[in-house]
Amino acid sequence: MMKQTADVVVVGGGVMGCSILYNLASRGVTNTLLLERSVLGSGSTGRSQAIIRTHYSNPFTAAMAWESLQIYRDFQQRLGGPSGFVETGYFVMVGEDDREAMESNITLNRTVGIDTYLVSLEEAATIAPMLDVNGVTSVAYEPRSGYADPYAVTTTYARAARELGATVQMGTEALSVQVENGRVTGVVTNAGTVATDTVVVAAGPWAPPLLGPLGFDIPLEPVRHQVVQIQRPWDILPQHPAVADIATKASFRPDGDQFTLIGVGEDEIVDRDSFNPAVDLEPAAAAFERASRRMPALGQGYFRGGWAGLFTVTPDWHPVLDRVEGAEGAYCAVGFSGHGFKLAPMIGTVMSELVTEGEATSVDIKPLRASRFSEGDLVRSSYRYSVLA
Ligand SMILES: Cc1cc2nc3c(=O)[nH]c(=O)nc-3n(C[C@H](O)[C@H](O)[C@H](O)COP(=O)(O)OP(=O)(O)OC[C@H]3O[C@@H](n4cnc5c(N)ncnc54)[C@H](O)[C@@H]3O)c2cc1C
Repeated sequence: MMKQTADVVVVGGGVMGCSILYNLASRGVTNTLLLERSVLGSGSTGRSQAIIRTHYSNPFTAAMAWESLQIYRDFQQRLGGPSGFVETGYFVMVGEDDREAMESNITLNRTVGIDTYLVSLEEAATIAPMLDVNGVTSVAYEPRSGYADPYAVTTTYARAARELGATVQMGTEALSVQVENGRVTGVVTNAGTVATDTVVVAAGPWAPPLLGPLGFDIPLEPVRHQVVQIQRPWDILPQHPAVADIATKASFRPDGDQFTLIGVGEDEIVDRDSFNPAVDLEPAAAAFERASRRMPALGQGYFRGGWAGLFTVTPDWHPVLDRVEGAEGAYCAVGFSGHGFKLAPMIGTVMSELVTEGEATSVDIKPLRASRFSEGDLVRSSYRYSVLA
């Protein structure tokens, strides 16, 4: 039977909801209930390419990425379960058009304390001889970055939260947030109503049906993004770093010893409930070809298939981390726009601070407030390639 009352209800069992639930619990807020309509990680999280890098155009996202990386690296010790983190190193490669943007980002990222620097084309070829840097003007390198296993991370957060006393309820859908006289009083679900004065909506692409009736009107577009899986020729390409190649629009990372995952980058707005979760062969082949130009040995690899998932895209490709105005006690952590996974540990931290202390103290998240859109104070990226943010 579902819990009848909770101090906080978290809606959504993706990496964000589970990180928030754990971080609330670690601050002593344990009379909590997380509602997941399906199983943990079944939304965008389970389909993520899960690259963990720290290259960002703004100090607040860079700081969250850097702090989150430390948590991912130390996950077993801190959370008591695996994250699947693998350090591969991460390269950002640009042509002349984006050289200045990248150089200013590196200066900013280093100011935040991030271990990242520019490398010459010769140095890049020494660190990663499997890459062909033809056509590239500038290269930035992050030696400590890599990727993780999004399902392992999500379920580890959930288990750690449960061990501290939180409740996770799967197979239960939140239908609406109940508000009386401007205050949250409960969450209506398909298994009854839970009384609460605090709800955190972390429902990924499916947040609008819950937030819209509360007056939240920021567009959260479901954008389909595809991932291609290649079985690499391990005899000639046993390993390689993660790469964001803006020059040829290729983004790829290894997946264990045998596979490579390539982001396709032909993104389209779709229906969140009826999108095609498989890959389209033509753009998949084009992405495979682009990645093989940057890493020629990959061209001998074997196309194994792939999948598609949803980005939840806001007008400036940055999330909204805030209270929901007009419904006291309602909060949202939504709109991660295709780059949220790497930030998830710190999203849990700042959201739990916002809920328990009234404001986030670890990182200044005011630039990610909801009102920035009506105020015309959007977050800017140094690149035209929005997902790099
Ligand atoms: C293909 C792809 C590649 C990506 N690659 C990267 C990457 O390399 N690096 C990176 O940092 N990020 C990446 N991302 C983005 C990242 O995965 C997302 O930002 C992150 O997973 C979002 O997590 P979430 O918890 O907000 O959403 P979700 O994982 O979608 O979780 C929301 C959950 O809420 C549940 N839910 C929804 N509505 C309700 C309801 N009414 N009641 C109960 N439960 C509900 C859903 O079932 C779902 O499980 C990628 C995303 C995709 C799709």
